[in-house]
Parts: sequence; C-alpha cells; structure tokens
Amino acid sequence: MLGDVAPQVTAYVGIGSNLDHPERQVQSAVTELGEIRATEVRCYSSLYLSPPLGPPDQPDYVNAVAELVTALQPHALLDELQRLESAHGRIRDLRWGPRTLDLDLLLYGTLQLHDSRLTVPHPRLAERAFVVVPLCEIAPDLEIPGGGPLELLKRCFAEDLLRRL
Ligand code: ATP
Ligand code: MG
Ligand code: MG
Repeated sequence: MLGDVAPQVTAYVGIGSNLDHPERQVQSAVTELGEIRATEVRCYSSLYLSPPLGPPDQPDYVNAVAELVTALQPHALLDELQRLESAHGRIRDLRWGPRTLDLDLLLYGTLQLHDSRLTVPHPRLAERAFVVVPLCEIAPDLEIPGGGPLELLKRCFAEDLLRRL
C-alpha cells in the first residue's frame, strides 16, 4: 500500500458521459472521486453540454473537471479512475464511442510523463473546449506543464461551443 502513496499533489480529472443519465453519472463520479483512498475533491466545475467527438451518431456529452488533492502516485490514481469507470458500466468499444463514464487524468501537479499506460498532461487536453473551459473555470491561473497558460488556450475556442448546464 505504501509503495503507491506520494506527497500530496493537486491533480485534475476530466469527467465525461453521454449514456444512461449523463448528468447523474457525472455528479456521482464527483462523489466517488472524493471516496478514493488518500484523495479529496477540492472543487469541481459546472457541468457543460458538448457535441460528441468521434462518431457523430451519438448523444451530446455532459462534461466537467474536478480538482483533486491526492497522495496517490499517478498510476495508482489511474487504476482508481478505471475502477470507477468499470463500476459505471463503461464498455470500451469504438474509439471515442458513447460511454457511461470517462475519467481522464488531465494534470498531475507539474509532472510530465509518457509511458505505455499513461500520458500526463493528457495529450489532447489543449484541443478540447470541453476540457479547457471547465478547467479554466476552476483554475484560471494554471500553467500547462510543457505548454502555456491555460487562459491563452481558452481564447482559441468560440464562446458558444459548450452550453453550461
Ligand atoms: P481520450 O484519451 O482521447 O480522451 P478516451 O478517454 O476515450 O480517449 P479511454 O478508452 O478512456 O480513451 O482510454 C484509453 C487508454 O488511455 C487507457 O487504457 C489509458 O491507459 C490510456 N491513458 C493514457 N493517458 C491517460 C490519461 N492521462 N488519462 C486516462 N487514460 C490515459
Ligand atoms: Mg477521454
Ligand atoms: Mg479516457
């Protein structure tokens, strides 16, 4: 147990759902993130409705971002996120296909990491309004490790891409 526990780090998790009552899936995911061992939810964004990425014949998504404080190492945190996805009945089928719950580790402190299981910062963070907008809502002064100020990224997206719920 001790081997995967580190000093406390601020991490950000992107939450998405477009199946089986997406708003409820996202709300309960926030509660469950706070129940992960050695982890607390410090705050979370509004919920946003966004058009699907990938196959277009699927429902719109509900997205949010949660700020965590965790003593788990990044891979141990990813294990916990994947456990919650499975508990929500997540089936990995089509790439970017519809899902009950997606939990992506967006940022883990200032860490930059790339291996076969995990890339942090999340490699597609900067291209996604449904990540950048809610992240900017809760952490406007954030710098993306290896990238630039989050606020600059946000300016790349049209205001009406997302609908705040
Ligand atoms: P995307 O990553 O483009 O948002 P996705 O969320 O639909 O796509 P998943 O099926 O949830 O992709 O995850 C595929 C794999 O991505 C996982 O098995 C996981 O090991 C890997 N992965 C790499 N980096 C991350 C990260 N930062 N957060 C979550 N999963 C990651
Ligand atoms: Mg994802
Ligand atoms: Mg994912």
